[in-house]
Amino acid sequence: MSKQSFKDYAISEEIIRALDSLGYETPTSVQQEVLPAALARQDLVVKSQTGSGKTAAFGIPVCELADWNENKPQALVLTPTRELAVQVKEDLTHIGRFKRIKVAALYGKQPFTIQTAELKQRTHVIVGTPGRVLDHIQRGTLVLDRLACLVIDEADEMLNMGFIEQVEAIIQALPGSRVTMLFSATLPRDVESLCQKYMNNPVHIELEAAGVTTDQIQHSLIEVKDADKWPLLQAVTIVENPDSCMIFCRTKEQVDQLFIRMAALDYSCDKIHGGLEQEVRFEVMNAFRRGQFRYLIATDVAARGIDIDNISLVINYDLPMEKESYVHRTGRTGRAGKQGKAITFATPHEGKFLADIERYIGFAIPVMKAPSREQVALREPAFEAKSHARTTLKKDKNEQINAGIMKLNFNGGKKKKLRAVDFVGTIARIEGVTAEDIGIITIQDNVSYVDILNGKGPLVLEVMQTTNIKGKLLKVRKALK
Ligand code: AMP
Repeated sequence: MSKQSFKDYAISEEIIRALDSLGYETPTSVQQEVLPAALARQDLVVKSQTGSGKTAAFGIPVCELADWNENKPQALVLTPTRELAVQVKEDLTHIGRFKRIKVAALYGKQPFTIQTAELKQRTHVIVGTPGRVLDHIQRGTLVLDRLACLVIDEADEMLNMGFIEQVEAIIQALPGSRVTMLFSATLPRDVESLCQKYMNNPVHIELEAAGVTTDQIQHSLIEVKDADKWPLLQAVTIVENPDSCMIFCRTKEQVDQLFIRMAALDYSCDKIHGGLEQEVRFEVMNAFRRGQFRYLIATDVAARGIDIDNISLVINYDLPMEKESYVHRTGRTGRAGKQGKAITFATPHEGKFLADIERYIGFAIPVMKAPSREQVALREPAFEAKSHARTTLKKDKNEQINAGIMKLNFNGGKKKKLRAVDFVGTIARIEGVTAEDIGIITIQDNVSYVDILNGKGPLVLEVMQTTNIKGKLLKVRKALK
């Protein structure tokens, strides 16, 4: 029987309230399948696309089953890319907000010192990329003895990227009594064998038999010679005139080249690939989310699993070499019930790869003609008008959710023997404030951070200027981060 409300599951009121504030009303299909088994601590292998709500499918049980009083990490989520680690961390933080679940992200290129300091705090959930997580395990900075749940997200991509040895080394370092959940868009043999080796009679859940949704995404193919791809791209973008579009190339050099060409023609565009600094990658993704530019040129790696609302068009400027990539790339559009379009360019000598993709997705991608000169001329004025129109910035989903939250910085922490209960006890006594208005609390040696929710930040900030905590008057101000 399908359940229509999150209240039908064994989920606490705090989590239900968080889901409500995220606007999640009914569980998606993957959530309906996963929640009962995961909440009953069963091992799971889930074949499901990104965009299906799978982050919450594991995020809800991870937050629900976490014990707030435990200081050591209880759940570990492995993701293939840094962007996805940060996104999953944010999603889990939102889901666990009212339970004050603390989530930390561990990924390469960020200094160890920052992450090690964070790991010294009470942290309930770790989300990370395999290399950095393993480094922390080997350095002894990530303690695993209370770890009760492992989630392997985007497992096929993780193994594709060559992380198998790290993933296995991590699994071997974990307590045997844990629950393991594996999520993958596809289940190639190496993923299956990982499941057999390290999981305990897992429940198999399979969502879409055909790997690709055709009801929400209109797929088409244009045959083109290499030399004609650039003029074809211009024609397609003029005719389609998308508000938000991702263009995939095979290599970072090709991304760089196409970016230069498009920028020279004043396309509102930016680029992302693995050769860019991590900070730049985050900035580009955030700017794209906010709608600061319309065309994002990307390689596969950087865009994997990324959840951006309202991408109306995906263009495969280069045909993907891996059949699975076709599914992941086109899955950037047609998300969360919206309609999308995916247009793929294929050159005459790419027939073998195309046949592979079509066998894999289970249908032949309908061939369409390149836009005619007349079509292009007809649509050009609208294209020009849109490219000169002022962009209205969208609020990033996280920014919207964070709007009612103010982080306060108190100049005292562990060394003054302060604990989370001291903050909760004091702040919840302020008139007009309840414990439910208090979010995540982080206590460091000399400073503490407290999230105040529901727009009550300014009130708490004012009252705390003159209110003692545990007999001490602390300096309090709005935190910068
Ligand atoms: P994911 O597959 O985890 O990348 O999620 C895809 C999108 O669906 C994300 O934007 C989620 O915030 C959203 N989402 C997840 N679960 C629900 C739900 N039950 N109702 C509405 N939206 C959801």
